[in-house]
Amino acid sequence: MYNEPIYLEPAFKERLWGGTKLEEIFHYKIPSDYTGEAWCISGHKNGPNTIKNGPLEGKTLREAWDGHRELFAGEEGEEFPLLVKILDSKKDLSVQVHPDDTYAREVEGENYGKTECWYVLDCEEGSEIIFGHHASNKQEFEAMVANGEWGDLLRTIEVKPGDFFYVPSGTIHAIGAGIQILETQQSSDITYRVYDYDRVGQDGNKRELHLDKSIEVTTVPHVDPEIERTQFYQEDLRKERLVEEKYFSVYRWDLEGECKGLTPEPYVLLSVIDGTGEVIVEGRSYPFKKGDHLIIPATVKTFDLKGNASLIVSNSNK
Ligand code: ZN
Repeated sequence: MYNEPIYLEPAFKERLWGGTKLEEIFHYKIPSDYTGEAWCISGHKNGPNTIKNGPLEGKTLREAWDGHRELFAGEEGEEFPLLVKILDSKKDLSVQVHPDDTYAREVEGENYGKTECWYVLDCEEGSEIIFGHHASNKQEFEAMVANGEWGDLLRTIEVKPGDFFYVPSGTIHAIGAGIQILETQQSSDITYRVYDYDRVGQDGNKRELHLDKSIEVTTVPHVDPEIERTQFYQEDLRKERLVEEKYFSVYRWDLEGECKGLTPEPYVLLSVIDGTGEVIVEGRSYPFKKGDHLIIPATVKTFDLKGNASLIVSNSNK
């Protein structure tokens, strides 16, 4: 019986908008000064994580999902459903939109669309995101895109550390410069670029845009999702619900001491964003620190937490 947490080794992605904060904040060994993303809990084919400990050490999360579905309570699906990333935007990301499941399957032949959410870990003062747009119908949206009326079309919001944004598929969005976020999303890598600030890449060319698909999948008019953050205590663990929706539930946990008898329900993803502590399963201790990412599999009946740490925690709702 697999009776311990599964620790994962992050996989890094270099991006033209990336920087060095992933090393500065989390002490990760990044590949270059243009490191934009750490894929921290991923079974996706474009960046699956390697397991660092236990009976499946050296295997990927993708292989664990394929061959050991009991770890995930027998959940159905061709791929591990969620993807947890940390992003560092030294520069602006392109303005983009993602399709839903149906469109991803029918048009792209992929398993999942992409609904995502962001927890702002840190940012420079005055940093902004783009979230939604001001067009009232598709014709207006299309015309404003065609005419490049970005200032009037796009809706910008200033962010601060601790902010949380739920970004359903079909939402126009962009992460602005100077922000580090933890993103919990469906396991998908389909992005339609609407606008890239007319930037030219190292090859001298502008990056490809996907205007037709963007127009098709964008929700018009924009709908602002309602977010109600609620807190409750379980012993020395404060749990804050950030979102509970169709694909995932995401929480912030703040531990100051001990919490016994937690259950994985049915398996749970933990990302340590601050501090240190330990997971205890049947008397055995598994230490963790800021920057660690682990899954408590469904085969663990209960576990305790001990320490002083903050975590972003998620469950699949499939
Ligand atoms: Zn996105």
